[in-house]
Amino acid sequence: MSGGPPMSGGPPLLVRTRAELAAARAALAGPVVLVPTMGALHTGHERLLGAARTLAGPRGSVVVSIFVNPLQFGPSEDLDRYPRTVDEDLAMCAREGARLVFAPSVAEMYPGGKPEVTVDPGPAGQLFEGEFRPGFFGGVLTVVLKLLHLTRPAIAVFGQKDAQQLTLVRRMVTDLNLDVVIEPVPTARDADGLAISSRNRYLSPADRAVALTLPRALRAGQARAAEGFGDAATVLAAAHDVLRAEPALAVDYVAVVDPGTFGPAEPGPALLVAAAKVGGTRLIDNVPVVLAAEGAAEGRLRDAATEGPGADAAHH
Ligand code: AMP
Repeated sequence: MSGGPPMSGGPPLLVRTRAELAAARAALAGPVVLVPTMGALHTGHERLLGAARTLAGPRGSVVVSIFVNPLQFGPSEDLDRYPRTVDEDLAMCAREGARLVFAPSVAEMYPGGKPEVTVDPGPAGQLFEGEFRPGFFGGVLTVVLKLLHLTRPAIAVFGQKDAQQLTLVRRMVTDLNLDVVIEPVPTARDADGLAISSRNRYLSPADRAVALTLPRALRAGQARAAEGFGDAATVLAAAHDVLRAEPALAVDYVAVVDPGTFGPAEPGPALLVAAAKVGGTRLIDNVPVVLAAEGAAEGRLRDAATEGPGADAAHH
């Protein structure tokens, strides 16, 4: 054996019921690493699976859940047309060395119908995605908590693509004392810069050209911050300049936030987050930025203006 992942050992075991999962889980070697997904697996998920394989180490086990969770879809959202590609998903899980795939039915996950007791995502769950998708994070956290209980992993892996989700999952783990380590994985992008998403398949070539404005705007904000004098307002303005030039992109929000709380960002590490619709497809994306103190941009511009020839006396 060459030693590196993906591991040999045959395709993963596919289980569809909680009872089958419990039996299979009991036989797994630890550490167990869980990768929760809604299926229609793509290169972004592949990165999560690869990271999970590394975190599990040579002896541990990767468990993948595939479940399109109705609790996190609004009444006008795409639950019924959400892509389902089970055979391809299983092939990817096998390639990436997963040991177990849990793909339950809705009745198996919610045997009593819609649950009455759910996780309250708190105030950060009402912002941004929570504002545009009421009930979304309650649905996400409820199913994540159930999946954590059912699989009892040492580690669970989440993508930074869904940054607010990652923040809220971490907050749930802290606030509810869950015995699991949450590991983030950077956003996978296509060569043109678009963050990979199961929903990208809905984009026509023309839609896709419009959609690219979103990562372009985020890069513009990031570049402004990297120049070293971008406070939150300046970074945001750079992103808005790019978005304004593409009226076909319907922006839901663009904001600079504290990555730990999704509240207002302080100088230092922050996230530039955005969501927008192209036709009927909704896209979300984010990039990390490092913010300068407020007013830093004005200060630097003033310095630059006074640094011309003969301006020495005016400096300081
Ligand atoms: P989903 O199947 O869309 O619910 O996503 C399952 C997991 O994959 C979540 O933790 C997502 O954040 C992550 N994920 C989805 N797309 C990407 C991407 N482009 N890069 C990194 N992680 C991703």
